[in-house]
Amino acid sequence: MDFEVPEEARHAAEGLIQFIDRYVVPLEEKHDDLLGTERARYDETGRLRPEVLELRRQVRVESARAGFYTMFGDPGLGGHGLSETSLVHVQEELTRHCGPHRPLIHENVIPSVFTNGLSPLLLHLRPEVRGKYLDGIASGEKTFCFGLSEPDAGSDVQRIRTKAVRDGDAWVVNGTKQWISNAPYADYCVLFAVTDPEANRARRGGITAFFVDTSWPGFECSSVISILGHSGSNIGIVTLDELRIPDDHIVGTLHDGLALALLGISRGRLSMSALCVGTARWALGRAVEYANQRQTFDRPIGQHQAVQMMLAEMAMDIYSAKATVARTAWLVERGQKSVKETSITKALCTEMLGRVTDMAMQVHGGMGLTNELRIEEAWRHARALRIPDGTAEIQRRTIALRLLRGDTDL
Ligand SMILES: Cc1cc2nc3c(=O)[nH]c(=O)nc-3n(C[C@H](O)[C@H](O)[C@H](O)COP(=O)(O)OP(=O)(O)OC[C@H]3O[C@@H](n4cnc5c(N)ncnc54)[C@H](O)[C@@H]3O)c2cc1C
Repeated sequence: MDFEVPEEARHAAEGLIQFIDRYVVPLEEKHDDLLGTERARYDETGRLRPEVLELRRQVRVESARAGFYTMFGDPGLGGHGLSETSLVHVQEELTRHCGPHRPLIHENVIPSVFTNGLSPLLLHLRPEVRGKYLDGIASGEKTFCFGLSEPDAGSDVQRIRTKAVRDGDAWVVNGTKQWISNAPYADYCVLFAVTDPEANRARRGGITAFFVDTSWPGFECSSVISILGHSGSNIGIVTLDELRIPDDHIVGTLHDGLALALLGISRGRLSMSALCVGTARWALGRAVEYANQRQTFDRPIGQHQAVQMMLAEMAMDIYSAKATVARTAWLVERGQKSVKETSITKALCTEMLGRVTDMAMQVHGGMGLTNELRIEEAWRHARALRIPDGTAEIQRRTIALRLLRGDTDL
């Protein structure tokens, strides 16, 4: 295995960081009154205010013009097709530079690799339908969301109850989706519904994916879910009431939607894992800086052995997670067996980030608990990441099932 970061990945990461520093940071500074606090950013329903959404649109469009927004997209969709090794390097560098969530940066300079932007899901749309939507998505003007989970179906996606019934040359959909990232703001949604109830009950699929324009009658993001002390979010509950979808808007094959849902799992989980490594490096950077500055008992706290141990623990944790991400990206890139390894990586990196942000907070003493330094925001973000994209337990279930079926390579 070659640990050398590809030239194109180094260039992409350097260019992206320059773009952020030259274009996005001045925009953040200019609109600090709007972006600086959650109270200003969100309205009373927990939605981002229209002015913030407009700034995010501007960032996406500018990033698309500069070629960053589409860099991981499939060349068949007009993307630059950068590999998994490049993806993890860029994601790590981005989050190491920017730290935890910043409303104009995350999800806007580069979109989520599977559930927005030039997702491989779009390859499974009929060409004439794709033609209608692709330019808007590629240019950053339009975004979409991924509507699979429901109030009674998260880990166990076969339990979804949203139903699509054929009516002439269309499908009529009723149901509720929950926890859908970007749903409050998305122009489109890849929506999953049961189309063959019998097959679904027997756990043999029976679920179909549809491409939906969120402005169609019957699609409503009825509320926003705020989590972990935030006063707003990008996660929505979607109500589907007699939503009519033309038959040609099926994504992939009828009744086989869950196969599509698994398509982007490795890239999505790798991207999240690299984000964890980058954010952890950001947190360690802040902790080292603080340990060199803050004085107690006539010396910098970094001179106390207990603080040194925490810094060392953080570095050890990050180093092993980083090596794991690199190896899994290498396997995925070569099309080698990597289901177990991707699950190991996602569970290991999200849990690592929890430990590292917790120690970074401890090194900062009381200052770590304020949101001035954004350490506590990174800690909350780390806690959240153990749930979406397969919980920590579902990752372990996948790892164990693979082991028990004979995949014991490590
Ligand atoms: C921030 C965030 C963003 C999200 N974005 C999206 C999105 O864009 N689109 C989308 O469709 N969904 C999204 N989700 C939903 C997410 O995929 C689910 O929350 C997740 O799969 C867990 O499902 P659940 O919440 O229903 O928990 P449950 O499945 O009810 O699980 C509850 C607990 O039981 C454990 N458990 C369940 N089954 C097993 C098992 N077999 N063995 C051991 N333990 C088990 C779980 O690990 C967990 O601890 C998002 C969720 C969050 C929190």
